[in-house]
Amino acid sequence: MEKNKPPIRIIAPGKVFRHEATDATHEAQFYQLEGLVVGENISVANLKWTLETMFEKLFGKKMNIRLRPSYFPFVEPGFEMDMSCFKCEGRGCSTCKNTGWIEIGGSGMVHPKVLESAGVDSKKYSGFAFGYGVDRIAMLKYGIDDVRLLYQGDLRLVNQF
Ligand SMILES: [Zn+2]
Repeated sequence: MEKNKPPIRIIAPGKVFRHEATDATHEAQFYQLEGLVVGENISVANLKWTLETMFEKLFGKKMNIRLRPSYFPFVEPGFEMDMSCFKCEGRGCSTCKNTGWIEIGGSGMVHPKVLESAGVDSKKYSGFAFGYGVDRIAMLKYGIDDVRLLYQGDLRLVNQF
């Protein structure tokens, strides 16, 4: 945002690291995909459509997206993102812990102070941002039950996809 004028639309994939004891669903390293859109008249509706379209393409069928109010420092309002369970389609199963929803990441409308600190006029422009773990989506889509398998370099796993 400091180097480019709106409209801005980016996808930023990358590897992230955190201090974490590893187990079947937690890794100290994982891949994250972040998106940022800044322009005129950008709203929560644009965020929701983008997420629904992205997950429909990823899973090959219509996915409902639910946004729950939450706090993230660089957005206001901020949302936790849930996706309708691709296995049971909302009826409830072991994958979604009988809720019908699967938590996929965080999102929100870019905080006006973030826009202003990057030299973007927050009276004229607004934006949304989101981020989610690519590994988690791969585990869900392909039924991989241990995230550590993704980092062992075992071609018997990789060659299945
Ligand atoms: Zn389910």
